[in-house]
Amino acid sequence: MKHVIINEKGTQRVLHRHPWVFRSDIVDAPTDHQPGAVISVQNKKGQFLGQAFFNPLSQISLRFLTNKDSSIDIQFLREKIRRSIHRRKALNYSEDQGIRLIYGESDFLPGLIVDRYRDVLVFQTLCAGIDLKRELILKIIQEETNLTTLVERNDVSVRELEGLLKQKGIVSGEIPQDLEVREGDNFFSVDPLEGQKTGLFLDQSENHVIARRYASGRALDIFTYQGGFALPLSQSADEVTAVDSSAPALKKMLSNAQRNQRKIIPVEANGFDYLRELSDRGEKFDTIVLDPPPFMKSKKVKESAPAGYKEINLRAMKLLKPDGVLITASCSQNFTPALFAATLHEAARDARREIQILEVRGAASDHPVLMNFPESHYLQCWIVQVI
Ligand code: SAH
Repeated sequence: MKHVIINEKGTQRVLHRHPWVFRSDIVDAPTDHQPGAVISVQNKKGQFLGQAFFNPLSQISLRFLTNKDSSIDIQFLREKIRRSIHRRKALNYSEDQGIRLIYGESDFLPGLIVDRYRDVLVFQTLCAGIDLKRELILKIIQEETNLTTLVERNDVSVRELEGLLKQKGIVSGEIPQDLEVREGDNFFSVDPLEGQKTGLFLDQSENHVIARRYASGRALDIFTYQGGFALPLSQSADEVTAVDSSAPALKKMLSNAQRNQRKIIPVEANGFDYLRELSDRGEKFDTIVLDPPPFMKSKKVKESAPAGYKEINLRAMKLLKPDGVLITASCSQNFTPALFAATLHEAARDARREIQILEVRGAASDHPVLMNFPESHYLQCWIVQVI
């Protein structure tokens, strides 16, 4: 058998152009299949639906590449990569900015992430299918970008769900000592090998720049990492405190602050405890940023606001002076915009405050959201005034 057969539920997903089909929707499949190899997909009536990476080891068993019967060869991959890079040109990023060149499914290349920090390319191959084609893909990317330095950041646990090992390292070229990128007027150093994600949280880059506009007086940046929000806040606020539980992240934050000639107060603490401590001390702020790691990893908690998000938002609202601004983000894909709204609503009610929504933002435009793939809309950044 040279194809996979999927049930009606899976067929409907494919017809709506969702790029994934789950294992539970597979009716029949070959048993001698190399995990990740491309296969053609049919419905129970034998109608052709497209071609996908098939990995029976993963819950996400099929990741669609095309609804056509074309061959998935070097030309196919080159075309997808070229178009993805070409689309970024329209975004008018300058050479000194960090940019996501390829964003997986959103760029029709399932599981492939490629970020560019000046002359350094950092990649992730997060599913078995794209991992199998890795050599070919890296060759095409080098040719299409004219860049040679490639860094692998496959040290992420989603690879284990695909039966892949975690690994990282320099694949070719070398990383310059003083690698840095610009966001607005601020320069951030990048460590593609040891930094979180591929070095920076590029998805927040446009939100960082916007934050400057809303900052004033005393500002607080909880979950600061290397100061992504703290630095722009310091351009408008009189005093900025930046909090993170990671000492190495704070060290980088301080060197970024120094590089940009800003003064930021570092605090190494658990964000939850520190918020509590500040309110016990009766401290007040004009601007607060909350950009936590994902708290809601499963869809289970549907009815009420997940506790972690509610707690930090409630505490922040209480710490804000009247008319203070809260910039609050979530990168949990399961924490939907509706849930986020409900959480802010509940938190405001408990804090006895009113909130005005100023902006509801997403990830930067180099992380496009694919209409038929809600999973690509994971980042939200709400900017609200707390009355
Ligand atoms: N705001 C950053 C990205 C934050 S990522 C930016 O825009 O660049 C989340 C950060 O939260 C990480 O740096 C991580 O070290 C930190 N973190 C995770 N759990 C924490 C906790 N309980 N208290 C404080 N910081 C925490």
